Amino acid sequence: MSQLILFPGKKRSLLRRHPWIFAGSVGRLKGKARPGDTVEVLADDGKFLARAAYSPDSQIRARVWTFNENETIDDVFFKRRIAEAVARRRNLPELKNEEGVRLLHGESDGLPGVVCDQYGDTLSLQLTSAGGEKWRKAIVNALVQATGCSRIYERSDSDVRRLEGLEPVTGWLHGEAPAGDLSIMENGVRLLVDVVGGHKTGFYLDQRENRLLTGALAAGKSVLNCFCYTGGFSLQALAGGAASVLSIDSSGPALETAKRNVALNPQLDAARAEWWEADVFTALRELRKAERKFDLIVLDPPKFAPSAAHADRAARAYKDINLLGFRLLNPGGLLFTYSCSGGIGNELFQKIIAGAALDAGVDARILRHLAAGPDHPIALAVPEGEYLKGLLCQV
Ligand code: SAH
Repeated sequence: MSQLILFPGKKRSLLRRHPWIFAGSVGRLKGKARPGDTVEVLADDGKFLARAAYSPDSQIRARVWTFNENETIDDVFFKRRIAEAVARRRNLPELKNEEGVRLLHGESDGLPGVVCDQYGDTLSLQLTSAGGEKWRKAIVNALVQATGCSRIYERSDSDVRRLEGLEPVTGWLHGEAPAGDLSIMENGVRLLVDVVGGHKTGFYLDQRENRLLTGALAAGKSVLNCFCYTGGFSLQALAGGAASVLSIDSSGPALETAKRNVALNPQLDAARAEWWEADVFTALRELRKAERKFDLIVLDPPKFAPSAAHADRAARAYKDINLLGFRLLNPGGLLFTYSCSGGIGNELFQKIIAGAALDAGVDARILRHLAAGPDHPIALAVPEGEYLKGLLCQV
């Protein structure tokens, strides 16, 4: 096996079990390795540190599979890691009855660049690392064995693949396209999932628990759901007895799906739902001009800051929508506000929201800190996994 030998003083993060080896830490490669090949990572004194997937085109030159010298990287390794990750979810009582569950969460499950979401009997797999790409077959076999699912679709079309020198790949890896629509039951509401054309792997499973909380607090309220996508928060609000729900998204197809979602759930009152295809930044200003007010507002925008380099511009965008959101709230109103930007940490996000409240001239407090559910664990050694953060504020 080829060896990646680190520069002196560059082993610290590996000793703390962080799985990324940056290009600048690599002294030399002894032997030959192609993208995705397993290499042995050694300190400058020759001491074993890890086995990792080599990625010559990426700034993250290698991603660790194991820190254990006795563990080999082969089909059995993937069977074991994937069975463990699936069992972790199965053992959580709150996930027992869920049809939509994230089964593999990359680095947090010891599988860098490997994400898999379960939607009923269908899995949606996303490989974003050279190592994941190399072991696709082993990963698929292990998933089939661990879940018994009859279909796996590959959604490896995320932009981050480019950073690893990988082309987009999509298609059915196991089984065939289902005959009808794919849907999941989430907290008593049926929701369509489009693994082929939807966002991410088809749906935003990371907001499941927060959608539930929104539903629980929505009774009798006028609700505004910004960046609604296919209406996840909107449907939970309707199910929770909201008096009215205005939902806004710039994507026409997402709104079409949202309306079909309402129709799929005859227990919901479609007449209480209003859908706007619009830019949220503009729409919030129009609502202000029209002097509309709401009791509960959800702001769940897309990733404004993919990395820390975009943090400044992103901070301005977050502040803008939150300032407008605060101004549109009735006294006692609730603001659910989120950021899924890796480049904006919890502390910075809270500061931005505090600044928005100040400039909006409202006195607000945090009732809850919000995050993704337990099927999106965060390895303590890899705090970067904590991308989704939210605050429930009350004015
Ligand atoms: N809350 C959703 C997920 C939101 S994803 C859920 O729980 O499922 C972010 C959404 O923002 C996407 O649907 C995207 O179409 C939309 N979007 C991005 N930029 C926008 C803008 N400027 N105005 C309105 N919608 C926007």
